[in-house]
Amino acid sequence: MANPLPQRSHVVVIGGGVVGCSVAYHLAHRGWTDVLLLERDQLTSGTTWHAAGLVGQLRATPNMTRLAQYGTELYGRLEDETGQPTGFLQRGSIMLASSDGRWDEIRRAHSTAKCFGLETHLLHPAEIKERWPLVNTAGVRGGIWLPKDGQINPADLTQALAKGARQLGVRVREHTPVRGLPRRDGRVAGVETDEGVVEAEYVVNCAGMWARQVGRLAGVDVPLHAAEHFYVVTENLPEPPGAVPVLRDPDAAIYFKEEAGKLLVGMFEPVAKPWGMGGIPHDTSFTQLPEDWDHLAPQLEAAMERVPAVGEVGIQLFFNGPESFTPDDRYLLGEVPELPGFFVACGFNSVGVQSAGGAGRVLADWIVEGHPPMDLADVDVRRMLPFQSNAQYLHDRTVEGLGLLYAMHWPYRQYETARNVRRSPLHDRLAAYGAGFGEAAGWERPDFFGEPGTTPEYDYSFGRPSWFEHHAAEHRAVREDLGLFDQSSFAKFLVQGPDAETALQHVSSNRVDVEPGCIVYSLLLNERGGIESDLTITRLDAERFLIVSPATAQRRDYHWLRRHLPADQRVTLTDITSAEAVLGVMGPRSRAFLEEVTGANLSSEGCPFGHWTELEIGYARVRAARMTYVGELGWELYVPTEFATVVFEALMARNGAPKPAGFHALHSLRTESGYRHWGHDITDEDDPLGAGLGFAVARDKEFIGRAAVDALRDRPRSRRLVSLMLEDPEPLLYHDEPIYLGDTIVGRTTSGRYGHTVGAPVGLGWVEDRDGRAITSDYLAQGEFSVEVAGERVGARLALKPFYDPDRSRVKG
Ligand SMILES: Cc1cc2nc3c(=O)[nH]c(=O)nc-3n(C[C@H](O)[C@H](O)[C@H](O)COP(=O)(O)OP(=O)(O)OC[C@H]3O[C@@H](n4cnc5c(N)ncnc54)[C@H](O)[C@@H]3O)c2cc1C
Repeated sequence: MANPLPQRSHVVVIGGGVVGCSVAYHLAHRGWTDVLLLERDQLTSGTTWHAAGLVGQLRATPNMTRLAQYGTELYGRLEDETGQPTGFLQRGSIMLASSDGRWDEIRRAHSTAKCFGLETHLLHPAEIKERWPLVNTAGVRGGIWLPKDGQINPADLTQALAKGARQLGVRVREHTPVRGLPRRDGRVAGVETDEGVVEAEYVVNCAGMWARQVGRLAGVDVPLHAAEHFYVVTENLPEPPGAVPVLRDPDAAIYFKEEAGKLLVGMFEPVAKPWGMGGIPHDTSFTQLPEDWDHLAPQLEAAMERVPAVGEVGIQLFFNGPESFTPDDRYLLGEVPELPGFFVACGFNSVGVQSAGGAGRVLADWIVEGHPPMDLADVDVRRMLPFQSNAQYLHDRTVEGLGLLYAMHWPYRQYETARNVRRSPLHDRLAAYGAGFGEAAGWERPDFFGEPGTTPEYDYSFGRPSWFEHHAAEHRAVREDLGLFDQSSFAKFLVQGPDAETALQHVSSNRVDVEPGCIVYSLLLNERGGIESDLTITRLDAERFLIVSPATAQRRDYHWLRRHLPADQRVTLTDITSAEAVLGVMGPRSRAFLEEVTGANLSSEGCPFGHWTELEIGYARVRAARMTYVGELGWELYVPTEFATVVFEALMARNGAPKPAGFHALHSLRTESGYRHWGHDITDEDDPLGAGLGFAVARDKEFIGRAAVDALRDRPRSRRLVSLMLEDPEPLLYHDEPIYLGDTIVGRTTSGRYGHTVGAPVGLGWVEDRDGRAITSDYLAQGEFSVEVAGERVGARLALKPFYDPDRSRVKG
C-alpha cells in the first residue's frame, strides 16, 4: 500500500474537521510531530464544510474571550504561514440591541471587554446605519461594534491548519474510520482501524457530532447531541452592500453576512430541532437536511423587516446542517478523567470555527504539559456528570441550547428544559414553602422563597427582579435571627482506611492529623501551587474522613483525589453524595434554637467552631458541623437521606422555626462575608496567598503544591483577591466588571451581589499592581478605586478583609 498506516504514533487525533486539524497543528507547533490524524471520510466532511464562517471574539467568559482573540490573530496570519488561502476578512461585526434588556447587556459587555483589551465601541442607530446602509434601524436602541471580528471560509481554514501541521511532520490520513479504542493498564492504548491497531500514548476525540459514539468505543461519556442548524443565502442583491461587517440582531435570533453581493442570513431560533436521536449515521458526509420553511418563518420575517432588501430578492439556498450541542452550551475540552490519555475537543455549539484556534492551542498545551495551561473550568470536560449522557436529557436540553447563543444572557438565567433531574429529599416540602428553584449540576435548589403555597416567578433583569426583596428578607433573617438552607447538593466523599490520614496529608494543603470531631478547611493544590478545589475535611474517626465540596465540583474533585491519593497506601475513596442530606441552620439564634430542640450543649465549650457533634432531632441522629459559608454562627446538619424529611419537619414544627432561605441569600451573605467561591473567585491558576487563603496552607508538612507556595512567600504580594463595596447603592454588580485605580484598569470583579446588611453592592475581585508593588491594606485604603458598570464608573472601597464582620467574631462567638 502506498501510504500504509503506521503501527505506532505518539498521538492519534480522531476527526479531520476544523477542530481536529487545529489540535494537530498546535501539537506540531509545540514540537510534537509524531501525530497521526485519522479522518473517517474527507477533511471537513462532518460539520465544518457548511459553517457560515463567522469569527467573533466576545464570548461568555473572560478566558473564552482570550481564546477567541487568539483565534482571530492566528487566522489573520495562517495564509502567510502556510500558503493556503483561508478567505479571512476582518470586516468587524455589529450587534444590535432592539430591547432595553439587550442594551443593558451590550453596555455591560462593552465594559467587560475592557478587562482583556478587546476593542469595542457603542454605536447610536445613526452610526449603525452609516456602517450598514441596508439596515432598518426601527426599534434599535443602539449597538456594539467589534472592529477585529471577521469571517472566514471554514473549509479553507481547515485545509490551512492541516497543511501547516503536515509541513511540520504530522501525518493526515483520510478514509480511515476509527472503530475501537483499546485500553492497557487503565490508559488508552491506541486506536483500532480496518487496517489494524495503531498504538498511541494519547488519543484525542475531535469527532464532532460523532464524538459521543466515539467516546462509547472507550466506555466513556461525552455528552453532546446534534441539532439542525439553518441559514439561507439570497440571490444577488440589486444594490450590493459592499464590504459590510457581520450584523447580528440577537433579539430577532438572526445574523447577516455579506458574501459576493448576496446575504447569508443565519438563525438561532429559540426552539431548536434535535437531530440524530438514534445515533449519527457512520456513513453520512457533507450532510444536508431537509428544508423547513415553517420552522423558520418568524426569523425569516424578522430578517426581511431588519434588512428589507432580503425580501426584495429570492432565496438561492436554504441550508440545513447538523451541529452538536452540549448541555450547558459550552464545549468539552480536556482529558476524560476515567481514562488517562484520552482527550476530547468537541461539542462546539455552533461556534467551532471561531473557537478552533484557541481550543486547539490550549488542548495541545494541556497534552504536552500534562495540565491545563490556564483556567479552563468553563469548558473542562470534568464539569459534566454521568447523568448528562442520558439520551432523553440530551435531546430535551438541545431544544433550548441552540437558541441560547442569541437569547438574553440575563444574570441567573435558568434552563427551561430538562429540569427536575436531581431533587433533594426536601424538594416537595421546600416547594410548599414557596421555593423558586434554580439548577446546578442537575440539582434543583431553592434560589429564593416567595409566599408559602405559591410558585413564585423567576424573572430576570440587570436591575432588581421581583424576587430581589424576597432574598433580601432571607439575607436579613440569617444575619439577624435564623435561616435554614437545604445544602444537600454538596458533593461528599468518604476517604477511609488505615492510611487515610497519611494519604490526605499528601493531597491537602492544611493539616488533617487532627482529633476525630474536628473539621478542617483545606485546599487541593496542583504542583504549580494553583487551587484545584477548596473543601472541608471532617475527621469522623481514626480511619475515616468526610470531604465536602461544591455540587458543581463532584466529578472533578473525585477524580483529582483518585489520581493523587497515593496508590500504594491502604485508603479507599467513595462518593457518598447521595447518602446524606445537609441542612444549614444559620444565624445568631441558631445555638439557642438547636439547644432547645436537642437539649445539647452547643456553647463554644460544648461544640467549638470547626468541630462536629452528634445530635438527636426527631427520630434521627445527625452530625452537626459547626461551619458556615454565610459568616454567621451556625451548624450544618448532615442527615442520612431517608431521615431528612423527619429532621426538617421536626425543625420547622417548632415555635421560632428558621426562615427558609435560598442560594441567592447564601451568595449575598458569603460575598458580603468575603468567602471565596471556587471556579469564580479562585481557580487552578490562582495561588492561595494572593487569594487570602494562606491560613489554609500548612508550613510544617509536605503536600502537593507546597514548594510552589513556599517560593511565593517572600515575594511582594502584587496580585490579590480583595473585597469591594460600591459607594453608590444603585448599580448592581455581577462579575467581570473592570476595577480601576485612577484611570487605569487594575483588575476585574469575580463575584458581585447586593450586601443587604452593609446596604451596598459588594463583590470580590482580583487586582494587580503592574509595577510589582505589594498590595496591602494601606495601598487599598489610599487608592482611588472605581468599578465600571455598564459603561459608568462608580466609586468603590477595596479592602483585604470583608466589610462585614472582618474579624469573624460572629462566626466564632
Ligand atoms: C449551519 C451552520 C452554521 C455554522 N456557522 C458557524 C459560524 O459562523 N462560526 C462558527 O464558529 N461555527 C459555525 N458553525 C459550527 C461549526 O461548523 C462547528 O462547530 C465546527 O465545524 C465543528 O468542528 P469539528 O471539527 O468539531 O466537527 P466536524 O467538522 O464535524 O469534524 C469531525 C470529524 O470527525 C470525523 N469522524 C467522526 N467519527 C470518526 C471516526 N470514528 N474516525 C475518524 N473520523 C471520524 C468526521 O468525519 C468529521 O470530519 C456552524 C454550524 C452549522 C451547522
